[in-house]
Amino acid sequence: MRDCYDVAVVGAGIVGVSTALHLLMRGKKVLLIDRGGAGQETSFCNSGIIETSYVLPFSPPSYKHMARILLDTDTAVRFHYSSLPHYLGWIADFYLKSRIDIRRNNGKLLRPLIACALDEHRALMRGTEAERHLSATGRVKLHRSEASFAGAALERRVAQELGVSFEVMDAAAFHEIEPFVRPVYHKAVKWTSSARLTNPCAVTAAYAEKFAREGGIFQKTGVRALTHISEDLWNVETEQGAVQANQVVVCAGPWSSDLYKSLGYAFPLGVKRGYCRHFSAIGAATLAHAVVDTDIGYVIGSMEQGIRITTGAEFADRDAPPTPVQIERVLPYARELFPLGEAKESQARLGNRPCFADSLPVIGATPRHKGLWFNFGHGHSGLTIGPSSGRLLAEMFCGEVPFCDPTPYRADRFA
Ligand SMILES: Cc1cc2nc3c(=O)[nH]c(=O)nc-3n(C[C@H](O)[C@H](O)[C@H](O)COP(=O)(O)OP(=O)(O)OC[C@H]3O[C@@H](n4cnc5c(N)ncnc54)[C@H](O)[C@@H]3O)c2cc1C
Repeated sequence: MRDCYDVAVVGAGIVGVSTALHLLMRGKKVLLIDRGGAGQETSFCNSGIIETSYVLPFSPPSYKHMARILLDTDTAVRFHYSSLPHYLGWIADFYLKSRIDIRRNNGKLLRPLIACALDEHRALMRGTEAERHLSATGRVKLHRSEASFAGAALERRVAQELGVSFEVMDAAAFHEIEPFVRPVYHKAVKWTSSARLTNPCAVTAAYAEKFAREGGIFQKTGVRALTHISEDLWNVETEQGAVQANQVVVCAGPWSSDLYKSLGYAFPLGVKRGYCRHFSAIGAATLAHAVVDTDIGYVIGSMEQGIRITTGAEFADRDAPPTPVQIERVLPYARELFPLGEAKESQARLGNRPCFADSLPVIGATPRHKGLWFNFGHGHSGLTIGPSSGRLLAEMFCGEVPFCDPTPYRADRFA
């Protein structure tokens, strides 16, 4: 007689690992499946910021910015023209949802997951290797001109309304806390409540080790299909054979569509690709914060592997070969800002942000299948809210009173 699990969680990025751990902590017999190691995909390739100061979703590009994107000279956003037809609907929806009142409301709807994010990470990392990767200094946004600083006034106003703290610094004041950053900018905004992980992949792996240590089963294999066999039984068809579970949670980030499509679901899930690459620093130069070069559209920060540069958004087919043009484009600006040495790897690494146009994830039970749950679409904030999303899903799964209202994240909001 084959093992039957209470629940199989597909995907061991930060979202899947956190979900599996929360289910295990509630006494469930949990199988976590990933075709690679924990945290090796998008949960590797990110800027490491725990964005507890996030208050407002991204706005779409201005007309001036759009002209640069269309000419393919922009540093922050890039299109593969061949995949544009595929993305047009998503982009149109993104523009529709960019009205200030809608952005403010969507920012507010995400706040419950964001506000507790650091505490939720702390709870999962207690007693694990992950603790040494948590740094209390988080995100700083640099503005190269007064116009750029003024352009971000709405974010600061909303933050003030919500009681999210920040400090505006001139170049002299910022030099005191980041002495290696050259004063090529006009103002720095330090988001004081945000934090940083100096190795996001290692943190995800440490949560997965905790899961295994406490009795969870991790299986390294690809999932081909999910089949609802009977009222209370799911067949998980893997590359190593079938496993059975009473319930299944899909946490496969940008690949979730591969699993839900065959079950008859269609979601407007887009993928914003992004790249990361590590460099040495010249001399003893280092960075205490994750520094966002706002006008150019990249992030630079010190990681365990070196100085990491991460890029903005590339709209391309998810499975198209990597085209890390944006890393090359932002490098001269990064070198102007910080004494960067040589690249540490021969190639940049690709990450795929799973994004909905309303900047909210899907978390919860599916509308049409008993025992099927979704937890994906965490966009630009998945590293931050992976643990809080995992907790929310586990609370609903176990019939507990959820710590926040899950309604905004329902799968049927697109119906
Ligand atoms: C450049 C960049 C910078 C970013 N910076 C930040 C930041 O500073 N802060 C922040 O909060 N967020 C940031 N993000 C976003 C964040 O990294 C993502 O939202 C998050 O990692 C998504 O996690 P996930 O678990 O949903 O997906 P993933 O980490 O991609 O995990 C999905 C997992 O599912 C597995 N999988 C998929 N299909 C199958 C299958 N069929 N069978 C078995 N396994 C499968 C994959 O192998 C993978 O391990 C950034 C993203 C990028 C690209």
